[in-house]
Amino acid sequence: MSYDDVEIEDMEWNEELQAYTYPCPCGDLFQITTEDLKLGEEIARCPSCSLYITVIYNIEDFLSKGLQPSKHQPVPESFFMEFEDRKGPLKKQARA
Ligand SMILES: [Zn+2]
Repeated sequence: MSYDDVEIEDMEWNEELQAYTYPCPCGDLFQITTEDLKLGEEIARCPSCSLYITVIYNIEDFLSKGLQPSKHQPVPESFFMEFEDRKGPLKKQARA
């Protein structure tokens, strides 16, 4: 069982460790790197004891880091209508 559930917002970025940290009751720090987060890892471990915490975060926040925010273009309805047409009788194509 994890020691605690901690939201990523409540953790502190540690430049030296290149990891998000959270104080462990033993005096050391729970640590989890962005690489771990990108892989879907949600367990931050303390290197000095056997405790660990579950990190609550949105993986998409890390996957999109450094990339241009890609706007999800909705597919126009006409696309599907055209597709329906092609599945139908081939009259149009026969004429062309
Ligand atoms: Zn500890």
